[in-house]
Amino acid sequence: MQAEPRLYAYDGGVTAVDSGFNRSQMAACYLLESDTSVAVIETGTNDSVPRILKALEARGRSAEDVQYVIVTHVHLDHAGGAGSLMQACPNATFLVHPRGARHMIDPSRLEASVRQVYGDEVFNRDYGTLVPIPESRTRVVESGETLELDDRPLHFLDTPGHARHHFCIWDETTRGWFTGDTFGLSYRELDTARGPFIFPTTTPIQFDPGALKNSVERLMARDPDWMYLTHFGRVGDTARLAGDLLGRIDELVAIAERYSDAERRGKVIAAAMLDGLEEAARDHGVKLSSEDFHAVVATDVQLNTQGLEFWLDHRGGR
Ligand SMILES: [Zn+2]
Repeated sequence: MQAEPRLYAYDGGVTAVDSGFNRSQMAACYLLESDTSVAVIETGTNDSVPRILKALEARGRSAEDVQYVIVTHVHLDHAGGAGSLMQACPNATFLVHPRGARHMIDPSRLEASVRQVYGDEVFNRDYGTLVPIPESRTRVVESGETLELDDRPLHFLDTPGHARHHFCIWDETTRGWFTGDTFGLSYRELDTARGPFIFPTTTPIQFDPGALKNSVERLMARDPDWMYLTHFGRVGDTARLAGDLLGRIDELVAIAERYSDAERRGKVIAAAMLDGLEEAARDHGVKLSSEDFHAVVATDVQLNTQGLEFWLDHRGGR
């Protein structure tokens, strides 16, 4: 039986829905509401779709009210449920980055590449069957476009660096960005009196540190009050977090370069990354035991390592 989804209602008609991916408070989907319509930003996986539908109901909305289904990029913890959600929301238009659209209309290549990175077992367990989205219901959104959810303007910005098929969405009403993975990861378990803790995601296979830093700086150019992170939830204190994030992108690159020729490179990079993160978290005041800290970041350390290794092997040559 599907558990009741955990909802986080923020000011300005923004609600985070725990997608249930992997563990609680790891990945969010967002409902963005206007008087008569709703946009869903990030769909999670197929397993997240019933949670989104329940969240709509809890907010007094219906699937028919959904005007837009939006994914920041086509990594499957963000977009794996988009096809199923579109089937459930008959009036919705699907909004996607120009480089992501074809993978959602025909998910076969996307599925093959994810199977290659994560293996069949993980794919079948976490993602199930990807549902194609009809091209007629898909709208490609170019960088710089503004669309209206009723009278609520949503501005789209191309933000490569984590992936080349990534955009972020600016909500003028709350002065916040829906950042996908561009503004890194900030888990609520690592909050302290000093506020949120943040670190980058360098997931395979399109990590590009220069582009990522540039994208973070372009997000900050709007002087945002809030960042709505997919992993996980709303954070303020954006200037301090941007500084921390930019510094940690450099640190991860330095670790990758330091150990690029090491034997058992992946293990060494992952260990150095984990040590560096834990030290930074301790400086930030995180009091979790090492074991609990590792449990919060372990999946990301593993994925970040895979992404850095791919970057080491392919940089300059693409
Ligand atoms: Zn991603």
